Amino acid sequence: MKLAMATVAVLALGGCATLPALPSFTPFGPPTPPAICAGGGFSIDIDFPSAGRHDCVVAPDTSVVISVDHEPALVEGINPSPWFAFRVTSDAARSLSVTLDYTDYTHRYRPYISTDGARWTALPDTAVTLNERKTRATLRFNAVPGSTWIAGQPLSSSRDNVDWTRRALAGAGFTEVDYGRSLEDRPLTGFVGGGGIDAIVALTRQHPPETSGQEAYRGFVERLIGRNDAKAVAFRARHRIILAPMPNPDGVDGGHWRLNAGGMDLNRDWGAFTQPETRALSTWISEQAGQRRVVSMMDFHATDRTVIYAPPLDSASPTIAFLPALKSAFDSKLKAPPEWSYSHNAAGGTSKGWALEALKAPGLTVELWDHIAPADARALGTAAADALIDYFAMQ
Ligand SMILES: [Zn+2]
Repeated sequence: MKLAMATVAVLALGGCATLPALPSFTPFGPPTPPAICAGGGFSIDIDFPSAGRHDCVVAPDTSVVISVDHEPALVEGINPSPWFAFRVTSDAARSLSVTLDYTDYTHRYRPYISTDGARWTALPDTAVTLNERKTRATLRFNAVPGSTWIAGQPLSSSRDNVDWTRRALAGAGFTEVDYGRSLEDRPLTGFVGGGGIDAIVALTRQHPPETSGQEAYRGFVERLIGRNDAKAVAFRARHRIILAPMPNPDGVDGGHWRLNAGGMDLNRDWGAFTQPETRALSTWISEQAGQRRVVSMMDFHATDRTVIYAPPLDSASPTIAFLPALKSAFDSKLKAPPEWSYSHNAAGGTSKGWALEALKAPGLTVELWDHIAPADARALGTAAADALIDYFAMQ
């Protein structure tokens, strides 16, 4: 019966000189992403990697309220990072008023705007109004015809820092390896290169929105690979360089504030190792380090100020004396040198604590201010690489 109907339909179509136009089908225009809300002539969606976790409503006056929600969480409350990123699709240029509603949390990230998803500009402070408790932020901005993105930092999805690292290391003799899979089956990608009897480890983005830490990581990697005096060449000949640019891809692409897809803070899991991301990364680092002396392990993050969390200077590590040298390098080279905070908690579950316990290496949590200028974040990474090269090239 169905076949007969289909045959009739084909015959009927075949008999027409022209096909009737299908409603709302535009063969060459971009597809409209699924909206979370829409007003007259515009819609808002979160259908892209690292989008925030939002719902929204449009009022009759076309002002918009967007909820800023965190990931499904087993752990919450440490250093809340209310992340937002959404896209406006508009049929015409229009000015919009969008209120971010953080419920129990407070506004942290300055909004950035982009019309191509790649180049970003901070909204001026005058375009952002907070309520007294800072639990709501109203943004006023101009949407262009087509797409306009708003995000808490320039967007950087899980592929971005892997691709950046691959480009930065091109021709430098590094090996790219997928050392594991995330809970949602994304690749966990690392890079290893350089020679030698010692090793150095760097990672970033355990916590998804902390992209100013990623900027410092990039300054660090560029300098470590790009400096070409005799000391730098000697450093690379002596050190295996182990890099993990994206240890939490599910959290990053899922628009999480802090956690992985298992609802866990990965930088509290270096000890219990309940999550595949931390298990795979610690195993891979240990394998790559082998019997080498690991001179330092630097984990780049971001918070409300630039601060270095370091182990105490009497810690049981053969390279603990590097830390005063690193501090004096920062103090002499950076216009706003970081604070230092010294402590060790063997049961804290941080990469920093694990580095000292498992590798006997001074592990550092390198925190960059959320709003540091990208060039200043890179300068800190550059200074860290220079300090390593200058200190360890010959010892
Ligand atoms: Zn962090």
